[in-house]
Amino acid sequence: MLHVLDKFRYCPVCGSSHFEEQDEKSKLCKACGFEYYLNPSAAVAAFILNERGELLVTTRKKEPGKGTCDLPGGFCDIGETIYEALCREVKEETNLEISDVEFFCSLPNKYRYSGFDVPTLDSFFVCKVADTSVLSVSDDVSAARWLPLDEVHTEEFGLRSIRQALFDFLQRR
Ligand SMILES: [Zn+2]
Repeated sequence: MLHVLDKFRYCPVCGSSHFEEQDEKSKLCKACGFEYYLNPSAAVAAFILNERGELLVTTRKKEPGKGTCDLPGGFCDIGETIYEALCREVKEETNLEISDVEFFCSLPNKYRYSGFDVPTLDSFFVCKVADTSVLSVSDDVSAARWLPLDEVHTEEFGLRSIRQALFDFLQRR
């Protein structure tokens, strides 16, 4: 099995090819001593319910999982809190302002991007929105619709951690 940092063949500091696996998540340059750790990237996703108890389901505009169902969310930026990332991503993708945010669960995942499996740590939240009339999609989303929970099917969601969290969410409802 390939090491998680297999694509990082040369030391990014001195260019040496002796940039060697140290353990499951780090490499050490035997030439200059530079040490690199790959930690999971933090990501967020939102279960957004309207006043009828319907769930906001989006459609992915881009790979991975282009055209499959998704929840609003994305990666946290450097310097952002989880809460700030959640508000920003939901606003960017759906134009909605979330409220009553409650932590639901977190799940590790791998996100294939540029041929590299980026390890992520996804945090899921249940939220409401005060004004659903301003819904309009942009950014990484091509469509969004409100679905009664009995019409939400986990197999239509392209990302593994989203499917798992959604399964747990539907079980508890
Ligand atoms: Zn080096």
